[in-house]
This record gives sequence, structure tokens and C-alpha cells, in this order.
Amino acid sequence: MDTYDIKNASHIAQLLSQREQEIRTELRALDNIPSAVDGMAGHEVLDFKDVAVEETLARLDRANAYRLASELSQVMSAQRRMAEHHYGNCLDCGDLIDMRRLLALPASSYCAACQTMHEHEKFPRHQAL
Ligand SMILES: [Zn+2]
Repeated sequence: MDTYDIKNASHIAQLLSQREQEIRTELRALDNIPSAVDGMAGHEVLDFKDVAVEETLARLDRANAYRLASELSQVMSAQRRMAEHHYGNCLDCGDLIDMRRLLALPASSYCAACQTMHEHEKFPRHQAL
């Protein structure tokens, strides 16, 4: 298995800062979208369907903003781990993370096995009785 190594550092750092810029740009774009309430100002008559559409869009924007903000915090914590020289190790088991995984998802905090466990915790298939 290929793992992170100082020779990959500048490439990974570049991927992280590129993703950081993309996320910040997307977040700024979301900021510029008027909220449902702003959209209603100036319209004396707005039928229910318009309001519902606006609200749905505002909800999607919020969900999107939340997803982006959480990805941004992962990217920034990966950058911090890189600066502190412990990038590339799984935060749970401490094993080295596969380089192919880091290239695809440079902000990964966990190895594939631990990531799978975290996803099962978040979306348990069987509820405990
Ligand atoms: Zn792990």
C-alpha cells in the first residue's frame, strides 16, 4: 500500500488549498442568494406556491452551506495536521491512510476501515431496542 510521504506533501497541500478556495467561493455565492424573506419584500401578492418554492430553495441553500462549512473545517484540520507533521495517519487507529484515498479525498481523517465504522454509527442499520 502506498502511503503519505514527505515527497507527496506539496501535491497534497496544493489539493487541499485548491479545495479550500473552491469551498470558500461556493460559500460566498450562497451568501449572495437572497433568502426567502428577502424575496418576498416588494411583492405585494405572492402566491403560496411561490413561497413554498422559495422556502424549499432556502432550505436547500442552508443544507448546502452546512455541508460546505463542514467540509471546509475538515480541509482546514487536514492542513493543520500537515503543518504539525501528523497528516496521513488515521485519527482513530493511527494507521497510515492509503495514498490513493488521500489523493481522492485529501481531507480524509480516517482510514477506509474506520471511516466505514463512523458511517455505520451515523446511519445505523439496526436500531438498538
Ligand atoms: Zn483507522
